[in-house]
Amino acid sequence: MADLYINGSWTGAADGGTRDVLDPADGSVLAHVDEAGKSDVDDAVGAARRAFDDGPWRTTTAGERATALRAIVDGLRTNREDLARIESLDTGKTIAEAETDVDDITAVFDYYADTAGKDEGRVVDTGVKGAISRIVYEPIGVCALIAPWNYPLLQMSWKLAPALAAGNTCVIKPSEVTPLATIELVRIIAATGLPAGVLNLLLGDGAGTGAPMTEHPGVDMVSFTGGLETGKRIMATCAADVKNVALELGGKNPNVVFDDADFDSAVDYALNAVFFHSGQVCSAGARLIIQENLHDRFVDELARRAARIKLGRGQDEGVEVGPLVSEAHRAKVERYIQTAKDEGALLRCGGKRPDDPALADGFFLEPTIFDRCDRTMTIVREEVFGPVLSVETFVSEDEAVFLANDTEFGLAGAVWTADAGRGQRVAQRLRHGTVWINDYHPYVPQAEWGGFGKSGIGRELGPTGLEEYRESKHIWQNT
Ligand code: NAD
Repeated sequence: MADLYINGSWTGAADGGTRDVLDPADGSVLAHVDEAGKSDVDDAVGAARRAFDDGPWRTTTAGERATALRAIVDGLRTNREDLARIESLDTGKTIAEAETDVDDITAVFDYYADTAGKDEGRVVDTGVKGAISRIVYEPIGVCALIAPWNYPLLQMSWKLAPALAAGNTCVIKPSEVTPLATIELVRIIAATGLPAGVLNLLLGDGAGTGAPMTEHPGVDMVSFTGGLETGKRIMATCAADVKNVALELGGKNPNVVFDDADFDSAVDYALNAVFFHSGQVCSAGARLIIQENLHDRFVDELARRAARIKLGRGQDEGVEVGPLVSEAHRAKVERYIQTAKDEGALLRCGGKRPDDPALADGFFLEPTIFDRCDRTMTIVREEVFGPVLSVETFVSEDEAVFLANDTEFGLAGAVWTADAGRGQRVAQRLRHGTVWINDYHPYVPQAEWGGFGKSGIGRELGPTGLEEYRESKHIWQNT
């Protein structure tokens, strides 16, 4: 095996081990991959360091880097179906979702090719006679990019595209649970002829590979997407060396529905908001906050439709929702379901593994709705990251806003109403990084993504997503 990519070559692990990667739809082994140990981390960071300090990448013009990113865009277009198939197999998501992910990352590389090529700095009007003042942008250095398992390609590309566009060199690590599509992504990028050491791939878990990456003195920046507890640990590690750090963490996202909302759309999107990709989405609309007088009709319809969602292998025709990513993750979600019952939430549908014997070996769980929840319950407060919806009710607009903001997280949320003024008013009062009005889940590379509160630090996508990977330098010259 040679699954690590270091200094322009595919190689095995010098001091790590191997891991079986499982198909979540039936628990079978999809692949065995190498896992990097500490000396592999040293090699990869060393290669990235040399490529940054001595190599040509950092001094290429933004236009040259834009050309390199466009070659990646071409590679992604050529390999679209293969990449999507691997992502679907590895994560359990449907082929259609995986194809959307590949299209989205293609758009992200394309966007940063454009953005990097345009923004070369600015002249400052100092008001001081004889002084010329300029702001120029430079790359930060060696970036360690660490991604989770729910959107392996997407989350990595949101980091990698701007990091490369800004002229950094990178050591990347996908989740140990879902490494396969990232290996393929690196093959595609390597084929474009990026200079050796600019992009390095390590595989492995948090303790054996991720932690040594973040601790490494040769790393200048860590960008991490994943869970809150891991994020706190990484931030503390980065503090020791004052490394730059960007964190995209969890969410407990409110979906607020007023009684004047378009009923059918609000139901459709409420289902999609929480059950899409089995709820393993950081921005999942996991808290339905519904106006009391609409509650009965709305939740009856939701439960009826949720019970009919077609579960199955993500590569099969007609399947709407795949399995959870792993046995361990399903067990965690099942513990949350038990806790919700113990704390008195009313189970309206799901709450168990499907009866279909064809799904018995996979890590499936039925779409689950807990009604009559209150704000003290664990199911309302903690990120479950599975196909589980909690339902709370409100009477007034103020109460809706209070409940929507009643979380330590602040990643995303939605408001449904026919009253455009109210939609805007509520959106402005929500303490969340993205707010949709009469929609759920859309995003574009041009618009920033990130969280308030404990959902993270910094922003991905948009112009700010590039700035995260640049140092600005002020050059003052007396003439
Ligand atoms: P996780 O924190 O367990 O792992 C994420 C990554 O960090 C993995 O690659 C893992 O190997 C690595 N890691 C673990 N411990 C580490 C350590 N000590 N040092 C360095 N790296 C370490 O998260 P997960 O279970 O893979 O992903 C689910 C979480 O990701 C959820 O909380 C979800 O909300 C969050 N997420 C957030 C966003 C966002 O945009 N805010 C997007 C997707 C997922």
